[in-house]
Amino acid sequence: MTSDFPILATRIGKRPLVYLDNAATTQKPEAVLQAEREYYERLNSNIHRGAHYLSRMATEAHEQARGTTARFLNASSEREVVFTSGCTAGINLVSQVLALSGWVTAGDEILVTTDSHHSNIVPWQMLCERTGAVLRPIPLTPELTFDMAAYLDMLGPRTRIVSAPYISNALGVLNPIAQMIEAAKRNRPDCIFLVDGAQSTAHTAVDVQALGCDFYAFSGHKVYAPTGTGVLWGREELLAQLPPWLGGGEMIKEVSFTSTTYNELPFKYEAGTPNIAGNIVLAAALDYVKNIGLAKIDEHEQRLTRSLYDGLTALGGINILGPREGRGALVSVIIPGVHHYDLGTLLDQMGIAVRTGHHCCQPLMQYLGTTGTTRYSFALYNTEEDVAAALSATERALNMLL
Ligand SMILES: *Cc1c(COP(=O)(O)O)cnc(C)c1O
Repeated sequence: MTSDFPILATRIGKRPLVYLDNAATTQKPEAVLQAEREYYERLNSNIHRGAHYLSRMATEAHEQARGTTARFLNASSEREVVFTSGCTAGINLVSQVLALSGWVTAGDEILVTTDSHHSNIVPWQMLCERTGAVLRPIPLTPELTFDMAAYLDMLGPRTRIVSAPYISNALGVLNPIAQMIEAAKRNRPDCIFLVDGAQSTAHTAVDVQALGCDFYAFSGHKVYAPTGTGVLWGREELLAQLPPWLGGGEMIKEVSFTSTTYNELPFKYEAGTPNIAGNIVLAAALDYVKNIGLAKIDEHEQRLTRSLYDGLTALGGINILGPREGRGALVSVIIPGVHHYDLGTLLDQMGIAVRTGHHCCQPLMQYLGTTGTTRYSFALYNTEEDVAAALSATERALNMLL
């Protein structure tokens, strides 16, 4: 599998690159690079309105990509798949549309998890500013897992929206998303539940119908696809009832200077020329993942994650955030007496790419009382050798720093 990814042959000085920054973005396999090239060599054209051959071919490929995406998520219809520029765009689309629709009013409550990414905080804060709704963070347990008891206490008659990451990008902790959705709906069947799938989509099979959420957003670039691609899945009856957001070409049925009627789903939410190549290539990436199999990918990454977790534990003096079990494919650490940036810099010199800092989770960092962590994150192409290299490099770096 590693050989499918040309960039992994990169050398950092004399050392092979060990890429452990997959939670920030994944590398792209040959199949994805080829799909992009093929699109521009054989299909490139604007879609949905051309009378000519290339436009028909491009339109067909683009709508097939939507079908592939719908099946990947087990959506009940292709009309539920809105292509976006990424997870951030998807969450903003939902929050903006909810603002326009008057879904929340002053005093309503929006719950998010403490381990949320800024993308799952700021759009909701903006909605609160416009409406007088209140944003409430759901606390973590002392083990840094989701505090179900506190959440159940917080749910109430004013809870209109709950939005949470399936897997935290800064802790790696897997949230009990199915139970969270169930509890929110039990409290109020019309509560909107959005799942931030940025960290789950490449690692664990998702069935949006089985989850019972209302929206699921993810970024293509964290699932082996290009940057600038993404998906917002939304329940059809909700999307049909909510107002459009961006206005322009494609999202309309008929326009006059006095009134406009809107296109059917999902085109109502896709104003302007979409990222045609990107969306087609995103589907190629999802096919690549599906062909290997998410169960197999998950098992492999879990093995690497446990192996790294145990190795870091054995080094001693390292505060590994969150429990060993119930996590995604990443490990995030704080090392007393060592600045995360110094560790990251030394690891880089040894060929190991990790991420350091707040991981776009400043409120979580405030909660943890730190400025940042060092995060090692895996993808399907990582190996036990990568884990061994990361562990020995970390040990050497700590010997220099402590
Ligand atoms: C990366 C990430 C986002 C934002 O994704 P973009 O690709 O920057 O739009 C949101 N939430 C989580 C959990 C993430 O990891």
